[in-house]
Amino acid sequence: MDSTLARLSEITNLTVSRDAPLSAYTRFAIGGPADIYAETESVESFIQALAAARASGRDYMVMGGGTNLIVSDLGFRGIMLRFVARRMLAAGDRVQCDAGAVLQDLVDFAIDRGLQGLETLAGIPGSVGAAVYGNAGAYGHSISERVRQVRFFDGECVRVFDNAECEFHYRESVFKRRKDWVVFSTELRLSPADAAALRQIAARDRAVSQHYSQFDYSKARLVRVTEPREVYVSYRIRDTIFWTSKKIRLPAGEMLLTDGKITARAKCGNQVSETAKPEVSDQEPEEDILDQPVALVGPSPSLPVRPGPPGFNLPIGPPPSSGAFGFPLVSLGGAPIGGCRLKDGLLEHCHPHKKPVAPEPGTIVLIGSGLAMVMWRYHRSRVLGS
Ligand SMILES: Cc1cc2nc3c(=O)[nH]c(=O)nc-3n(C[C@H](O)[C@H](O)[C@H](O)COP(=O)(O)OP(=O)(O)OC[C@H]3O[C@@H](n4cnc5c(N)ncnc54)[C@H](O)[C@@H]3O)c2cc1C
Repeated sequence: MDSTLARLSEITNLTVSRDAPLSAYTRFAIGGPADIYAETESVESFIQALAAARASGRDYMVMGGGTNLIVSDLGFRGIMLRFVARRMLAAGDRVQCDAGAVLQDLVDFAIDRGLQGLETLAGIPGSVGAAVYGNAGAYGHSISERVRQVRFFDGECVRVFDNAECEFHYRESVFKRRKDWVVFSTELRLSPADAAALRQIAARDRAVSQHYSQFDYSKARLVRVTEPREVYVSYRIRDTIFWTSKKIRLPAGEMLLTDGKITARAKCGNQVSETAKPEVSDQEPEEDILDQPVALVGPSPSLPVRPGPPGFNLPIGPPPSSGAFGFPLVSLGGAPIGGCRLKDGLLEHCHPHKKPVAPEPGTIVLIGSGLAMVMWRYHRSRVLGS
């Protein structure tokens, strides 16, 4: 370990730290320390760091914005590498962007220049590198539609692939299959358009993701309504969030997901509030629509929604035993996890040679509709009002 640390510390422009808490780098703000965490804006330094990590024989992985990473409180016994270059350059209808850039920053960059093609990606969390890796998208569009080429490291040398060579499919790319490849930058071809109109589209899309963007995942817990309550409810129709102006009754026993400030119904994902929100709806839905899951394995017929992000709408594990939940709420047993992501219903270890593993006994995994994926310890649950 010390020799690996020493080797990495010798690499110029590489910031290296030992026992770095991964909670500081993951969206859900959970996760214990990585034995070694190293980041750089330099392609050359990153390649040297990768070589050192490989030579060490230790587990290593590359992370972006940490949106899809669920790290055990026990941490990651390996080397976490992050490429953090964030340059963006525009020339005519082409935009070049480093993999470490935040996807939302790229969306704003394009819109500000009156370039169309990325506005439907507004609100998708994460980095540009991971967006290419997973062909991120929403509202029927994916980043691959605009990718002209991708510059990446194949473990031996830096190469450039054109769009066809990237083998993009729905939330798929060649980079996802080649875990040892690292995306460094991408060039996109966009179309000239009116910036104000693009801003409007992005704002509409963002309304949906912002509905939960203030949710503090680090404080997430599952609570049960002990006394019936009257609340105002939000709901989604297509791309828009509405708050209702009439009160509905939450029965005792209903499960809610909360961070202490924002609360959502576990059965359907709608936010609830005891104080009225500004009314943005010109029509009130039938009450039974407010009880329908916003998305399960497919969209609800009466409440159309966009598909959730990868892994969010999967029917994982056994069905919930109580039948009380609108989407799967699964308690899993098994071994402690390291750096993981959710894939095909399993928590997959991010190291290419590790088998998928199950989380710690008692862990609850809540698979929502794209509004949230929260994993936390059962003992964090508590009863509302008790
Ligand atoms: C609330 C919420 C809403 C979401 N909505 C959407 C949505 O609408 N559409 C959608 O497509 N996704 C959505 N996602 C999923 C997520 O935003 C994307 O998968 C995103 O691309 C992850 O980016 P990241 O930088 O955080 O990646 P990370 O979580 O850090 O990493 C994800 C994977 O990418 C790999 N990776 C990261 N950077 C690189 C690189 N430079 N080169 C090679 N591999 C790399 C990592 O090794 C890892 O395997 C959502 C997630 C959440 C939590």
